[in-house]
Amino acid sequence: MEAKTAVDESTIHAEVVVLGGGPGGYTAAFRAADLGKQVVLIERYPVLGGVCLNVGCIPSKALLHMAQVIHELDDFEKHGISYGKPTFDIDKIRSWKESVSKGLNDGLARLVKQRKVTLLQGVGQFTSSNSIEVKSDTEIKTVTFDQAIIAAGSTPTKIPSFPHDDPRLWDSTDALELKTIPKKLLIVGGGIIGLEMATVYHALGSEISVVELMEQIIPGCDNDLVTPLYRHIKKQYKNIWLNTKVTGIEAHKKGLQVSFDRASSQLAGGIHSIPGDKGKDDAPASETYDAVLVAVGRRPNGKKISAELAGINVDDAGFINVDKQQRTNVPHIFAIGDIVGNPMLAHKAVHEGKVAAEVAAGHKSAFDALTIPSVAYTDPEVAWMGLTENQAAQQGIAYDKAVFPWAASGRSLSIGRKEGLTKIICEKDTGRVLGAGIVGTNAGELIGEAVLALEMGADAEDIGLTIHPHPTLSETFAFAAEMITGTITDLYIKK
Ligand code: NAD
Repeated sequence: MEAKTAVDESTIHAEVVVLGGGPGGYTAAFRAADLGKQVVLIERYPVLGGVCLNVGCIPSKALLHMAQVIHELDDFEKHGISYGKPTFDIDKIRSWKESVSKGLNDGLARLVKQRKVTLLQGVGQFTSSNSIEVKSDTEIKTVTFDQAIIAAGSTPTKIPSFPHDDPRLWDSTDALELKTIPKKLLIVGGGIIGLEMATVYHALGSEISVVELMEQIIPGCDNDLVTPLYRHIKKQYKNIWLNTKVTGIEAHKKGLQVSFDRASSQLAGGIHSIPGDKGKDDAPASETYDAVLVAVGRRPNGKKISAELAGINVDDAGFINVDKQQRTNVPHIFAIGDIVGNPMLAHKAVHEGKVAAEVAAGHKSAFDALTIPSVAYTDPEVAWMGLTENQAAQQGIAYDKAVFPWAASGRSLSIGRKEGLTKIICEKDTGRVLGAGIVGTNAGELIGEAVLALEMGADAEDIGLTIHPHPTLSETFAFAAEMITGTITDLYIKK
């Protein structure tokens, strides 16, 4: 007969515990389980998927698809198809958006069961280098572990002096809730979140103003790639103020009164400046809005998990430093995703999650991706990967570049858009792909080929000689490569 031992039901043991159930966390948990580990996954919310699936990438893409349909129908009016002005049932749109996330939540719940991962709902905090306390509304449990993977993500940056308790002051989560459609919406931050949400609310009829601190929108991307986007949205939005800072926001009954610092905006129009547009871009001293979305970046959650009790070093900004195997300074504790550094992107977290799980299971894995692609799902989309031209110039790397204009692409013209560009940057001596950027419809899908080319060590000739289907937007990548090799016939380039 088996000897009966007293079991403390409030304590469970994990060979691998994963803290955080976003894309990085659930991937790490699933990979570790597939490699034979007994896994406990801790998630504070009742559903898995984290920011990306519930209040980020996925719901925003559903709403961006809606925006695209509205604009395409609008555009077709001049070509003979008219449906009249759209009307919006905001409750139905919201339910549809939520149903998209829910489908994925349900799928993840099934994957957890299939892999026999133990899911614990509650907020987890380290209590030592081998234990985490998990608090939910109803109970407190302790998870002791052999190895841990921290995947606790990030939260939107708040500007302390702003009235964040006012429901008209939004972060990205509030914007995605789609509670109301403000008549006048100010977006603070011309980065990816700000511009994606601008696309959505503009389609729903809001008057949009964007204020960006730097001299161009999406500052990390090469200027020539964001300029077509800038020109497109400049026609749609009320204002885009560059080199401009919000100095204060005051809550009044009639709206949020926002003051701007014009002192730093002499370069109004920034480096995208459109001829004849000069001076139009100065922000007023102050203006009142029905809602303000603050999208000025995200902060890692490193300081919210009592990492110090496990002996893990967290820097002042809240990041946890890791090596190529995703190990923290405590060898049996790994960290992945937003909490270990920029870029804060789900696809980076997923790959890091796999590496951490594999190393925890004794494999010799390491994170050695050559690039992490970036995409703004705006209209047009902007996507880039590898070395940007700015970086190549800063690092003194000798390169050749080619920019294929989509105005010469039959497919682009047939979808009524010609502002796109496909740019390729190749090493001068070898022709090997160093970087690429695309602006235009579906740029986010198209950039995948460039990433593969970089990872496979392809050169411009390899790409130009690869037969791309015609007529497609994917051809533009081959055309750009042919511009490098000098074999292009779809354009005439004077020798
Ligand atoms: P971001 O860093 O992309 O952009 C923030 C922008 O705000 C920058 O352009 C910055 O110059 C500007 N800014 C900063 N302080 C300002 C101020 N006081 N006034 C005006 N402008 C100011 O950050 P985000 O858009 O908030 O996104 C956060 C993170 O989420 C990023 O890492 C982003 O890559 C990621 N994200 C990615 C996607 C995607 O992949 N499509 C979508 C959403 C978010």
